[in-house]
Amino acid sequence: MITTHLLPQIITAIVAVIENNAEEVTQLDQIIGDGDHVTNLQRGLEALVLQQDELSLLDWPKAWQKIGMILMSSVGGASGSLYATLFMALSKASNETELKLPTFAVAFNEAVDAVKKRGKSKAGEKTLLDVYIPLSEYLMSVANKEFDLQSILNEVSLVAIKGMESTRDMLATKGRASFLEERSLGHIDAGAKTAQLMICTIVDVLTKDLATPA
Ligand code: ADP
Ligand code: MG
Repeated sequence: MITTHLLPQIITAIVAVIENNAEEVTQLDQIIGDGDHVTNLQRGLEALVLQQDELSLLDWPKAWQKIGMILMSSVGGASGSLYATLFMALSKASNETELKLPTFAVAFNEAVDAVKKRGKSKAGEKTLLDVYIPLSEYLMSVANKEFDLQSILNEVSLVAIKGMESTRDMLATKGRASFLEERSLGHIDAGAKTAQLMICTIVDVLTKDLATPA
């Protein structure tokens, strides 16, 4: 069952993956951004670690709301308010204790729409949305079919990697990277990279959990 008891494990695993990739992501953000993306994320993650036990006692809508508020108050930068928006919108759009794919897909789709509005951005602009939009589209496409959760999780990782890779050849038109115009070509967007790392990490935690007998 995918309940909030998994949140401490997920948060711990995300802290580790961001730490292990900090140098690479910072280099990406130095090329086309201002180099602070990892520090911004880490500030948010540290704040989440402090509250992870409380979070694991809440149901999903309340946990998402709290995650959004924690990120809003701890992370600076564009990515902070975009992630805060994602989680608060996810909270508003859902009302479940146990996560189920068909309803989660709809709520996630609404949350990604809220991020688009907040960032005044769309697909193809070399941002983290180039990971989240394809992911949301994929989840919507499988939401109402008969499904095997593990194969969907495997596909989620692939969609995230493909989305992250797709930013390499995009021209940045949003955020700080847009000031560089053509110079942004040939480099992956830092926010897309961390989005992919976090999604693949969540998939790993859920995969381990699925394989563990109840
Ligand atoms: P800042 O851009 O304020 O320094 P960060 O460095 O933490 O914030 O995050 C940068 C990332 O945020 C970018 O790599 C990009 O993926 C994402 N981003 C920035 N602006 C937008 C926007 N308007 N819409 C969507 N994503 C954005
Ligand atoms: Mg930055």
